[in-house]
Amino acid sequence: MSEGVDELGARLKAYEGRAAAVAGVGKDPVNAPMIRHWCEAMGDTSKAYRGPGAIAPPTMLQVWTMGGLSGHEGRTDAYDELLGLLDESGCTSVVATDCEQEYPRPLRPGDEVTFDAVIESVSDRKTTKLGTGYFVTTRMDVRVGGELAGTHRFRILKYAPARRKSQAERPRRPRPVVNRDTAGFWEGVAQHRLLIQRCTGCGTLRHPWLPGCNACGCLDWDTVEASGEGTVYSYVVMHHPPFPAFEPPYAVGLIELAEGVRMVSNVVGVPYDKVRIGLPVRVEFRGYEDEEGALVLPVFRVVEGEG
Ligand SMILES: [Zn+2]
Repeated sequence: MSEGVDELGARLKAYEGRAAAVAGVGKDPVNAPMIRHWCEAMGDTSKAYRGPGAIAPPTMLQVWTMGGLSGHEGRTDAYDELLGLLDESGCTSVVATDCEQEYPRPLRPGDEVTFDAVIESVSDRKTTKLGTGYFVTTRMDVRVGGELAGTHRFRILKYAPARRKSQAERPRRPRPVVNRDTAGFWEGVAQHRLLIQRCTGCGTLRHPWLPGCNACGCLDWDTVEASGEGTVYSYVVMHHPPFPAFEPPYAVGLIELAEGVRMVSNVVGVPYDKVRIGLPVRVEFRGYEDEEGALVLPVFRVVEGEG
């Protein structure tokens, strides 16, 4: 995209206020089975969503407007045109950035929703770490019998991906997230020790590291050093999408340690298509070195003669 007068930006701005969907109708009324499935999936056990007088979880708002695989009537061309213009200008990538909802009125089983959506705003041209493009915000108003029940504001960034400074620049291996809950594990790894958290209340071993025990709720813990022996409990072979610093295909294993806990890691020592469930493996600490410095990671090598 050229610098200077942003002609594209001006064309995009013209879409502000245009309808993205008109007179949409929910495919099903608000209903108890969908509420129950959603609550089970989310692990939400609130009594407000069950029995006589139940309301739908407010954050289900968008659920009642979904078109499913067959789509919706009432969608206008404006939104597609807007995205088409962006695609043509090289802003071919998209990322959802945030969502805001408001709930003026609870939804209850039996409510039949209607909705309209509008292209609320298109930002000026912005440059982010991902690339240069435009934030597009749409707002959906959900109504029951003409009364506003909720608004759903959804923002995306449509952008032209930033090029890497140099093709020769090797992508860096992502770093593990080390925080106060997991620091002990990574300190162990740096010393080539695989440490498992143990609840001092009930003795249950756990991995990944957590602040408290899932079995008894106790917050106190110590560690035991794993023998390093394990088996492949499950695995996937990654083909797509590619991640920087990783060259597909490669196998990602879920390793069950002899102590019973499981951890995700690389399986090394055999080609990716020779990894099998039940394969005996042993921990190995591998050093990686790049611009960001040294990094030690536990990987699991197939025990000799087993591959
Ligand atoms: Zn416990």
